[in-house]
Amino acid sequence: MLSFFKEIRIYLGIIFFLIGSLIALMYFSLPKGLEEFSLSLPADEEIKYERETIKLGQQDANGVIKTDNKKVYKQIKVKSQDNLIKILRNENIPDRFIQALVRAKGSERMARIKEGDFVEIVHDFLMNPASISVTSNFMDGYEAIFKNGLFKISKFSRILDKEEIYHSATIEDSLFMSGKKSNIPESIIMDLAYIFGWDIDFIYDIRSGDSFELIYEQLYWKGNKVRNGDIISANFYRGENKFSAVRYFQDGKKDYFSQEGNNLKKAFLRSPVEFSYVSSKYNLNRKHPILNTIRAHTGVDYAATTGTPVRATGEGTVIFRANKGGYGRLIEIRHFNEYTTRYAHLSGYAKGLQVGSKVDQGDIIGYVGKSGLATGPHLHYEFRVNGMHTDPLRVKFPNAKPIESENKEDFRNFALALDLKMNTLKKKLFSSNEEKIEE
Ligand SMILES: [Zn+2]
Repeated sequence: MLSFFKEIRIYLGIIFFLIGSLIALMYFSLPKGLEEFSLSLPADEEIKYERETIKLGQQDANGVIKTDNKKVYKQIKVKSQDNLIKILRNENIPDRFIQALVRAKGSERMARIKEGDFVEIVHDFLMNPASISVTSNFMDGYEAIFKNGLFKISKFSRILDKEEIYHSATIEDSLFMSGKKSNIPESIIMDLAYIFGWDIDFIYDIRSGDSFELIYEQLYWKGNKVRNGDIISANFYRGENKFSAVRYFQDGKKDYFSQEGNNLKKAFLRSPVEFSYVSSKYNLNRKHPILNTIRAHTGVDYAATTGTPVRATGEGTVIFRANKGGYGRLIEIRHFNEYTTRYAHLSGYAKGLQVGSKVDQGDIIGYVGKSGLATGPHLHYEFRVNGMHTDPLRVKFPNAKPIESENKEDFRNFALALDLKMNTLKKKLFSSNEEKIEE
């Protein structure tokens, strides 16, 4: 019996000794920076959740947006002497995170920031970053997301927040000046002139008293205006006539249409070269300047310096791209409905352009030159309908592709809703102006 108790004591002694040494071992092996140990890093899901719930808000003077869940979004504009590490240190991001970022794959891409870019940091109240991103336009850039003790760097692209702005103006002098007086951004006035430019000549056709109204988009990110977006709807009132434009996407391609669904764009540009003048018109009884004999001039000559870009006047397919006698270097494009266009005397072709290439209206296809029978650099341009020569300065161009039949119903509803929105915004503006007058 005695030996039994003795044994128990020995066993208990061993057990206590073991427990004691374990406690001692645990105590001495605790990390030195205890407070650092307690800053447990957020789990993946938590980051994701926090990132998605960052609320839009106004920034304070330091570029800080407070969020409702202890995460902070901060935006820093890069100055000329800045680099990424310097910026992160200035923002009190702990060094171990900066080191982790430097070690991360792809960090050299993030380091390539320049003056005017933005660094965005999402961090918690202990300055632990959930993500760090660099961008020049807020729409795309590189983003480092902190996960399991490491930064993972990848490209990002995001959709900006949009605000719709209504403006109206009455023309007193020019479209441009009247628009500016109504605080419409220059780029939007230019867009308006472009959209209606196929039907309205803004230099000769408009009178004082004509007016217009439009809704355009402003693009934001975290409360910061990034840039002006598109005009989404516009009306131009010229005398008794009303011209409407509705932005609509078909097959991912943006176009402007009338309320009836006609494309506002014509299928062909008036001229294949910008900043040039017509040096020789279509003339069936012209004496050829080199051959010195009567030879019909079945196209239009545009005088322009060698190397001036030549644009495809309409969407189509290249069916010829080679030397052809007096034409010199020639490109021929086939468009819809048996329309073809020819561009001659080129000094060169656009890179990659071949027979079979698809081109869009306005695409650069080649460069002005004087190859073939030409006295000086110019573009000889021909327009044919069903293989017959036609005077490109007189032909009435068809409209570009209208709303496709399967989209007609959707477009009608879309245009109607926009019209309603325009009227609501107009009334709102009108009533708020009245209130101001009463004051
Ligand atoms: Zn010619």
